[in-house]
Amino acid sequence: MTHEVRAVGAPAENAPLERMTIERRNVLPDDVRIAIEFCGVCHSDIHTVRGDWGGVPYPLVVGHEIVGTVVEVGANVAKYSVGDTVGVGCLIKSCGECTNCRSGDDHFCQAPGHPILTYSEPDPFTPGWTTQGGYSQEIVVTQSMVVRVPDALDKAAAAPLLCAGITLYSPLKNWGAGPGKTVGIVGIGGLGHMGVKFAKALGAHTVAFTTSPEKVAMCKELGADEVIVSTNAEAMKAAAERFDLIVSTLPGDHDMNPYLNLLGINGSYVIVGAVGMMTEPFASYNLMRRHRSIAGSQIGSLRETQEMLDFCAEHNIVSDIELIDADGINAAFDRVVAGDVKFRFVIDNSTI
Ligand SMILES: [Zn+2]
Ligand SMILES: [Zn+2]
Repeated sequence: MTHEVRAVGAPAENAPLERMTIERRNVLPDDVRIAIEFCGVCHSDIHTVRGDWGGVPYPLVVGHEIVGTVVEVGANVAKYSVGDTVGVGCLIKSCGECTNCRSGDDHFCQAPGHPILTYSEPDPFTPGWTTQGGYSQEIVVTQSMVVRVPDALDKAAAAPLLCAGITLYSPLKNWGAGPGKTVGIVGIGGLGHMGVKFAKALGAHTVAFTTSPEKVAMCKELGADEVIVSTNAEAMKAAAERFDLIVSTLPGDHDMNPYLNLLGINGSYVIVGAVGMMTEPFASYNLMRRHRSIAGSQIGSLRETQEMLDFCAEHNIVSDIELIDADGINAAFDRVVAGDVKFRFVIDNSTI
């Protein structure tokens, strides 16, 4: 049994997004039906819907930074009630039984084809369907993949926490950002601006790296204790061995060597932005001589996502956003690609 909802999606590869109608399943016993109020615009939405990362099925509705209100729950759902404010991020199913799921790392579920992404994947609940994301009026999601959005948070500005937020919060926690640690965030965009806010709130000495001298004041406003302009060779040299952790949100292939030199003993350079091959060689002695590590991190578990949202409520953290209506999505995509947004577009889904 299904029902129709309004959405904004791509009818074909490289076609502009347009209004369309999609089907959602009626609630199953473990489902939560959510009226979506806001959905963030993630760069991954654009790459996926334009086919940059390979063929995807069309029509396709993207969006995985979803905040809304529960309007119906299935018979087995006790944790959420009608009227609750909830969120859905990048995943809509993990197996719950594999080693990684059992250890709470459901975002690294090992079951074949898992975890299932919020959009563009075969829908495990309705054979023949594709999962469709949050640029729509509502979504139906199994309760284990839903998180609670604390009332203290502005709903629109909380939406980007579901992907951009957790993508930075998880590595900062995992690699021990906190008091007494010096933490660098490289690239101050949709991801990086959340990294600066989280590192500061976790108590670390927080340093923003930007290529643009004109962004220094803005980085300080976000909470950075220091800003280093990475194109300034003298400033980079002066920062040698000062860092315990550097999280890079740079979106593509880049030379890691200048940043590896900034790590002290046991320091880590953690990549969260670049997807694909790094082609610039790095010097192995740059790792060996200070026990340095290069690592990567991808989103976070559902448990971590809930922890992050509660942390945000406690520390008054949300994303800096520009709210747009449904008619503005195509223009917003172009501006994201051009790097022209401070720092995240969020769709007002009541305009869909
Ligand atoms: Zn995303
Ligand atoms: Zn699993």
